[in-house]
Amino acid sequence: MENLCKNYVIAIDGEAGTGKSTLAKNIAKKYGIVYMDTGAMYRCVTLDMLNSGIDISQIDKISTLLDNIKIEMINDNGEDKFLLNDIDVTKEIREKRVNDLVSQVSHVPVVRERMVDLQRKLAQGKKIVMEGRDIGTNVFPNAEVKIYLTASAEERAKRRFLQNKEKGIDIPYEEILANVIFRDNNDKNSDVAPLKKAEDAFELDTTNYTLEEVEEIVMSKVKEKVDINV
Ligand code: C5P
Repeated sequence: MENLCKNYVIAIDGEAGTGKSTLAKNIAKKYGIVYMDTGAMYRCVTLDMLNSGIDISQIDKISTLLDNIKIEMINDNGEDKFLLNDIDVTKEIREKRVNDLVSQVSHVPVVRERMVDLQRKLAQGKKIVMEGRDIGTNVFPNAEVKIYLTASAEERAKRRFLQNKEKGIDIPYEEILANVIFRDNNDKNSDVAPLKKAEDAFELDTTNYTLEEVEEIVMSKVKEKVDINV
């Protein structure tokens, strides 16, 4: 193990609802490393555009919005919160209007360019677990650890439904399933950083595993690559 004590990136990519967030959060908490949810960053941009009445064809306006945007992730008493221009939008970024648009917004080249820059800057000098769609392929192609999670669409929709319920967000299962399938297609067929497994990523189908089992399997891979306890 060469990178003992060094900073490192653990990249966790995969489709919506594969358990990336829970896994990444648990790893960060247990091992005291930084967690970054890049999907939430694209959600913040989407919400800002919706609130400003800007649509995806208005590239100049999007550029100006990005020049002035402030996205922060804070931990408030153990709870991860997202601030958009100093306002807590943790709940709003999970709303249907954001779900329906985020995939298209995330594939506007200027949006991706700026978010990728920001993600690289935020990770500098840190031990970090970053989850998203293009972390192992595009943001950090040299990440020390790359994990790619999959699961059936039905299982992923069920997980999102239960997660939402816990957060007090009421979206019907059928609607979530349709959105999951729609976003998968959009994310995989995009010209800009499409969702795909990095060649050197460890792929795991989580459909029939519990969160604990997924964590155990992934952590054994992580420990082969970095000394996470240091
Ligand atoms: O992870 P989450 O489902 O919150 O991501 C929302 C959307 O943001 C995804 O459907 C995808 O279109 C986009 N995304 C992306 N690249 C990332 C993370 C998310 O394009 N690294």
